[in-house]
Amino acid sequence: MAFEFWPRPAELSKVWHNSFPSIIPDQTLGCRRGSRVISEETQTEDVMIEIIRRPAALDCESPVQAWLSNFAAACASGDTNRLATLFEDESYWRDLLAFTGRIETLAGARRIGDALARLAPPLDLAGMEIDRARTPPRCVVRAGAECIEAIIRFRSCRGRGAGVLRLKGDGSAGKAWTLLTTLEELATDAVSNAAGDAAKSHARDFRGPNWSDLRSANAAYSDRDPAVLVVGAGQAGLAIGARLTALGIDTLVVDRVRRIGDNWRNRYHALTLHNQTHVNHLPFMPFPPTWPSYIPKDKLAGWLEAYAEAMELNCWTATSFEAGHYNEAAGCWTVTLRRADGTVRQMHPRHIVLATGVSGIPNIPDIPTLPAFEGLVLHASQYQDGEAWAGKRAIVLGSGNSAHDIAQDLHSGGADVTLVQRSPTMVVDLETAQLPYALYNEGISTEDCDLITAGTPLPLARKTHQHITAMGRARDRALLDGLTARGFRLDFGDDDTGWQFKYLTRGGGYYFNVGCSDLIVSGEVKLLSHDAVTRFTRTGLELTDGRNLAADLIVLATGYKGQTHLLQKLFGADVAERVGPVWGFGDGFELRNMYTRTPQQGLWFIAGSLAQCRIYSKYLALQIKAQEAAIGGKKTAC
Ligand SMILES: Cc1cc2nc3c(=O)[nH]c(=O)nc-3n(C[C@H](O)[C@H](O)[C@H](O)COP(=O)(O)OP(=O)(O)OC[C@H]3O[C@@H](n4cnc5c(N)ncnc54)[C@H](O)[C@@H]3O)c2cc1C
Repeated sequence: MAFEFWPRPAELSKVWHNSFPSIIPDQTLGCRRGSRVISEETQTEDVMIEIIRRPAALDCESPVQAWLSNFAAACASGDTNRLATLFEDESYWRDLLAFTGRIETLAGARRIGDALARLAPPLDLAGMEIDRARTPPRCVVRAGAECIEAIIRFRSCRGRGAGVLRLKGDGSAGKAWTLLTTLEELATDAVSNAAGDAAKSHARDFRGPNWSDLRSANAAYSDRDPAVLVVGAGQAGLAIGARLTALGIDTLVVDRVRRIGDNWRNRYHALTLHNQTHVNHLPFMPFPPTWPSYIPKDKLAGWLEAYAEAMELNCWTATSFEAGHYNEAAGCWTVTLRRADGTVRQMHPRHIVLATGVSGIPNIPDIPTLPAFEGLVLHASQYQDGEAWAGKRAIVLGSGNSAHDIAQDLHSGGADVTLVQRSPTMVVDLETAQLPYALYNEGISTEDCDLITAGTPLPLARKTHQHITAMGRARDRALLDGLTARGFRLDFGDDDTGWQFKYLTRGGGYYFNVGCSDLIVSGEVKLLSHDAVTRFTRTGLELTDGRNLAADLIVLATGYKGQTHLLQKLFGADVAERVGPVWGFGDGFELRNMYTRTPQQGLWFIAGSLAQCRIYSKYLALQIKAQEAAIGGKKTAC
């Protein structure tokens, strides 16, 4: 029997139940009182694009307009039954702040009707209509069903809202299948033009401080503390930093790395992004159209650095966030920041946004026999480059993206590489992995794509990803068969929902093939099942058949620990317990504790892909802005 030499990393929970989250109105956001139908058999790749172009004579607008005017009247009436009859029995309403002040999804006509009856009347809704400045209503297929999809807009006493409405079929039933409502801008706000205003204020004062002097003084925080401290200056931290700064919230972003972008620069030599450039823009500043389809890591690193400068973000690099303690009475944190020269600065921000990555702390498995190995052992996060290993033997433990990419890098550097697989893994060819982003290739604006993406509630996203996974398997059949023949164990996620749901529930468990799977199929990178391994020895691995697999290098591509570990380390067990799991879905329809208020006052999280950070940084920033506006910028007593 194989020795359990490689403990299973703690996985984020991936339990899925069909229960509903409660809706708790957020007082700080309150205002007054409170073509063709494609059958299963004939589906081809254009199902993924999910657009059906109908003959021009077919009218997608009228059913939407009719529904919106009925909805506006029903909202004003506060009548549960009237509201419920506007939704299909199986229907979903996702709200990003506009009605609930939170990020919430509700399911079912009755439940939606109840909530809207309670929440809508005080909002003074007005101007509920198709947004004519955006993609017009279209007939599309979503999650395998034909529907009309329309981008809408409205106003309320909270501010300017947008949304996406879907009516099944030709819309004649007059019932919504899905409704997204979002708050796009607070009533009191517009994104500020900080640079322009500053330039104006000192253009005629030749002896006064110029823009550069003011920027430096502002970022030094020698006479004040920021309202918001963002920990982590990767894409997540910079995106929320840019949104908050644009909303006029005094925000400092800190990172322990020496230069912004080092979170990418320090990754392995061959890394390029795994999805295409046009999906990955940061807020306010899209990548130039001349950029390659897949961005190399150093190019992205340089862009992040330039982004922080261009967006005038106050950033302190070489600064570690060491600890935070919340003072309930004063309504702010006491945080400890250690700078590169060893000096410590205490600050008292009202908010902390943790942007430290889904997987912050390397998971180094406790393998009892590993210390016997006399060669070099590295965690994947420490691995840099295969060149030094030419002519040497390497064993890579793991079968996710990092494991495969490192194995390929070592192989291309001239090493003899064996990959040890413990758990079944999803493999999808890089081009096939672009299928979920087909919407972003349709030629409509990124802003519209983001809204449509946000408007797909979780249960429908799961269905869509099941379709995409099935399609991907068919597309990649030759590769997958080749891997199976080599003994590679494949899986396709819970209920075959594929890699995106693996990412959203576990933060990994898949590989985008950029060549390593082909090397495994051809035998150039060797594959070993962990069942065939007994223990580590002085020189390598002892196998169950008695052979010894010699190695000079062992790379532990064994993943990362979830954010709960980081919370415990930085804030203590009480805060970690109060907040509970971060990321994954638990019992609800939304990622836990992400982009929304958490049970710990003043503590927020942002993480995810570049696209997720772009989309949800907007709503996270608005929530913080609303809380700041509620206290009118009052100084706290910290
Ligand atoms: C090989 C690879 C390819 C990928 N390709 C894509 C892709 O194509 N598209 C995509 O959208 N995503 C991709 N991702 C996933 C994801 O976008 C990246 O992992 C990204 O780096 C996550 O950004 P982040 O800002 O959330 O976290 P990170 O990049 O992990 O940044 C977190 C930052 O927090 C800092 N930090 C942590 N703790 C502290 C502390 N206590 N004090 C101070 N600073 C701290 C760290 O130094 C770090 O700079 C890829 C990931 C990998 C590994």
